[in-house]
Amino acid sequence: MLEANRNENIEILSYAEVKNVEGCVGNYEIAVEMKPHFVTNDCNGCGACSEVCPVYTSNYFDENLGARKAIDIAFGQAVPFLYDIQRDCCVECFSCVEACELDAIDFSQIPEEVKFKVGTIIIATGWDIYEPYGEYGYGEFDNVITQAQLERMLAPNGPLEGHVRRISDNKKPKEIVFIQCVGSRDTERTYCSGVCCMLALKNGKLIKEEFPDANITICYIDMRTNEKGFEEYYQRAKNSDIRMIRGKVGEISEDLETKDVKIRVYSSLTDEIIKIDADLVVLSSAALPSKGTEQIAKVLNLDVDRNGFLTESHFGLMPQETKTKGIFIAGFAQGPKDISYSVSQARAAASKVAELTAPGKVDIELITAEIDKDYCISCRRCEKECPKGAIKIVDIEGAIVDEINCDGCGICATCCPTQAIDIRYYRDYQLYAEIEGILGGD
Ligand SMILES: Cc1cc2nc3c(=O)[nH]c(=O)nc-3n(C[C@H](O)[C@H](O)[C@H](O)COP(=O)(O)OP(=O)(O)OC[C@H]3O[C@@H](n4cnc5c(N)ncnc54)[C@H](O)[C@@H]3O)c2cc1C
Repeated sequence: MLEANRNENIEILSYAEVKNVEGCVGNYEIAVEMKPHFVTNDCNGCGACSEVCPVYTSNYFDENLGARKAIDIAFGQAVPFLYDIQRDCCVECFSCVEACELDAIDFSQIPEEVKFKVGTIIIATGWDIYEPYGEYGYGEFDNVITQAQLERMLAPNGPLEGHVRRISDNKKPKEIVFIQCVGSRDTERTYCSGVCCMLALKNGKLIKEEFPDANITICYIDMRTNEKGFEEYYQRAKNSDIRMIRGKVGEISEDLETKDVKIRVYSSLTDEIIKIDADLVVLSSAALPSKGTEQIAKVLNLDVDRNGFLTESHFGLMPQETKTKGIFIAGFAQGPKDISYSVSQARAAASKVAELTAPGKVDIELITAEIDKDYCISCRRCEKECPKGAIKIVDIEGAIVDEINCDGCGICATCCPTQAIDIRYYRDYQLYAEIEGILGGD
């Protein structure tokens, strides 16, 4: 992010929400709401305001494991490097105002709308984590955390500076159990989150490095380690003393005194019930499309699949394109994937954008649908069937074709019950003339 911020061709609008998009490829107008930081650009990040702030609140960046002040920096690499005030917990004592030598605190800031034009759009709104409240004691037992929380514990810039501890007493854990596929591959979310098997193996190995005597167990349905080098990594993890149990955890309870988590799991490979007294349980909970994905899909009228991931034009051949010309997708917003796959998709989307915009003008399809208003009965079949969303029924006028988005596939013409739609250059009489020409008729 810091590197992107230093690039003079990139402008980052952080703490912002896209509210509206109008126009078409080559000429989109975007309306963005800039949220107030309540701190102006005069802030030099000295932190004096945060030091005097009396209010602590949970730190969302650290998956709520650590605390932050009501006025604080979101995280170490935030762009811009500005402090912000969380007004929902700020008590308005104004000690930050007094502490700031640059007069950079401004409680009067309100959301601001900015508008700008772009030729193309790439959506890469990523993932959010499923918070499995009520499952496997999460939210109820102190020492049950998610994989995302463990990642923050292991991060050198995290709340524990890279060290793993129990939540209940801050002690080093000895017996650690990972439970896979929490909230995924079930009836509600049938898909695989795609990254959790490797994540459990990687984090298990990292914990082993810090605590060589720790016992790590992974309870799994099946291990999905099918990318380059992943299977070898899995085998190495198994050889480094990580215990693998193929089976779902059936019972979980908390020892009220020690806060240990008692687990019973049936191992389908050895046909036995295994009991474990765990110090720490890590749930590999489902990765969901982010809330931002849902919001942006609504703004741009894009399709999402049953799990909320953005739908591409063609899964195999046009994985970065959407049904709307000039709008592309990349990364987790399109479906679960790891970083290397996300990077490949991002680069593919960027080159699609360059391909479209570099000539300075956009080619549109000559062969498009054409409506005969006298026959159109506004039944909306064409609107429903058009894979590009390029036909709209407008009350008085009947069907209207968006000629920029229409690629002349002809689906609308085939489903029109009154034959009100023709495809330019493929009109019936033109096709008959061609056939006759081929057959040599007069
Ligand atoms: C717990 C967990 C651990 C993982 N660990 C690994 C790992 O070790 N190795 C690996 O290869 N992969 C890992 N992955 C997968 C990896 O995180 C993803 O592949 C990668 O983050 C996808 O990148 P992205 O840019 O598509 O999405 P993200 O990294 O999620 O970025 C999306 C960004 O878009 C922003 N955003 C969302 N909505 C909006 C909006 N409406 N407007 C503006 N901005 C918005 C978000 O705030 C976010 O900054 C992990 C995934 C999970 C869930």
